[in-house]
Amino acid sequence: MVYRVELDRSMCTSCGNCVDICSELFEIAEDGFSSLKNSENDDEKQILDLDNEMCSIEAAESCPAMCIQVYKDDEEQV
Ligand code: SF4
Repeated sequence: MVYRVELDRSMCTSCGNCVDICSELFEIAEDGFSSLKNSENDDEKQILDLDNEMCSIEAAESCPAMCIQVYKDDEEQV
């Protein structure tokens, strides 16, 4: 796994941008906030390891609340 996507749900404003851009990875959960599909939970953060970034970087760039981070080999990309 080279890429790691982190979502801090406590900062999510439910705008839906990440889901519009990258529904392969993101969905709006029952509580109305974004959720990383198939992710691990670490307190309020959700973490997902990926072989390639898929659409995570574009999703992170589209997030007005800056609650999505993408790392490649532990280096922050967005
Ligand atoms: S783009 Fe950001 S603020 Fe908007 S739903 Fe996704 S995680 Fe939440």
